[in-house]
Amino acid sequence: MKKTKKTGIDTDCIHAGQEPDKLFGGISVPIYQSSTFAFENAAQGAARFGGTDPGYKYTRLGNPTTAALEEAVATLEGGEKALATSSGMSAISTIFMTFLGQGLHVVSTDSVYGPTRTVLEKEFARFGAESTFVDTSDINAIKRAIKPNTKLVYIETPSNPTLAITDISQAAKIAHSNGAILVVDNTFCSPILQKPFDFGADIVIHSMTKFLNGHGDVVAGMIVFKDGSLFPQTKNVLVQMGGTIDPHQAWLVLRGIKTLSMRVKVAQENSIKLAFELVKHPAVAWVKYPGLPSHPQHDLSKKQMKGPGAMISFELKNGIDAGRTLMDSVKICTLAVSLGGVETLIQHPASMTHASLGAANRKLSGITDGLVRLSVGCEDYEDIRNDLFDALEKVTSPKPQNMEASQVG
Ligand SMILES: *Cc1c(COP(=O)(O)O)cnc(C)c1O
Repeated sequence: MKKTKKTGIDTDCIHAGQEPDKLFGGISVPIYQSSTFAFENAAQGAARFGGTDPGYKYTRLGNPTTAALEEAVATLEGGEKALATSSGMSAISTIFMTFLGQGLHVVSTDSVYGPTRTVLEKEFARFGAESTFVDTSDINAIKRAIKPNTKLVYIETPSNPTLAITDISQAAKIAHSNGAILVVDNTFCSPILQKPFDFGADIVIHSMTKFLNGHGDVVAGMIVFKDGSLFPQTKNVLVQMGGTIDPHQAWLVLRGIKTLSMRVKVAQENSIKLAFELVKHPAVAWVKYPGLPSHPQHDLSKKQMKGPGAMISFELKNGIDAGRTLMDSVKICTLAVSLGGVETLIQHPASMTHASLGAANRKLSGITDGLVRLSVGCEDYEDIRNDLFDALEKVTSPKPQNMEASQVG
């Protein structure tokens, strides 16, 4: 879709990349569930492989349904090009495979999505790529971690699950003055709440499994490029490594994106109310939510985010036992990993998403044993609140251990 006028993001969620189908006028993008595309003759086949005819050849290399999704997300992020991938991790690994190599270095957020860190430390390290993880919400920590061979600064903001916020424009300045590129994992915000390109990022990553699709039924990822310069080399790596998305999966995400803006707004409204109630609960030690004035980067969040989002982390006074009790007691909030869907999900990072980090790294990254992560959904606010608060009733604040023992006898 070649737009002549700039439209708002709510309009773009519904229309970007989604012109009525040229053949029959269907208003929903057709699913081109085809692995390969017929050529009219040998000359056309040759032209397609030679690059003079832009038509489709084979779905791993490109597909019309996938292209519609790529255009939609590129438009939402304000980028020029995008590449859809089979999962968020496929997008992330493709970036590392493209820009890292023997003797090259990446600086990243210490509390980054667990598998992002694991793939660098366990897999890419085997091929000689180096990685350093620091608290990127401290800009000086990024500066100190930069080395002459640093090619990537890879940040996640807000980070998962500590919700620490990194200053994107400062990170971009540091990366660029050292000849590195800045990649931002924007999964937690979606383009509705944060546009990293406006602050100098070069590449934006999404796990579309989360907010972009939003219905808990697809695993998918996206790489978005601010301009076309880094696109060709990344596309070569993606299609050669085979991380392409399936057209049906792409179509489901396109459908999900139509309601992205309204879903994010409802979930965020629920989250704001819930965070302000949770801080007052006697069983809760603290609440991390960018919308609370107590959040260490509350002011920065207002500068670079359009809203505080729908992810809340909180610590229970009674640590790991209280966490278990809470998760076994909720009924509407579902005990599951993942986030950004219409349903409210609750999980325990220390034993689930961040278990692979190991206790020592978790401690360094601020992931405490009693930390509970909530992905607030679009249910009625009262239902989420009452479910959570009924469950919190079962969570008592710490009792002196030996007193209990003596009562038992
Ligand atoms: C889920 C997630 C990923 C990985 O995405 P998949 O689609 O599960 O591969 C990466 N980054 C963040 C922040 C995530 O939440």
